[in-house]
Amino acid sequence: MSMKKYEFRQRECIHQDDNVEGAFYNGVFYIQALQRLPVDAAVEMARKVGSFFWADAPNILVWLCNDCATELRLTETPRAMSQAARRQA
Ligand SMILES: [Zn+2]
Repeated sequence: MSMKKYEFRQRECIHQDDNVEGAFYNGVFYIQALQRLPVDAAVEMARKVGSFFWADAPNILVWLCNDCATELRLTETPRAMSQAARRQA
């Protein structure tokens, strides 16, 4: 894995190709949300999203569909949302 610093990198959940609605979330909030989940649920969720080093979280944008964001309860944390990203059909 190449390490480009000072550049936002993106990860996304496996549903991004399904033309579903979603948004980008700050990697730090994503990690915090993962840590709030029960371990089993967190592992399950982490499988759906491209992995990254947690230390890199401040430089990561994570695109999550609405279902995944809801599961992580990120929809209840408006400031976690980095930018709205509507997928074109
Ligand atoms: Zn998803």
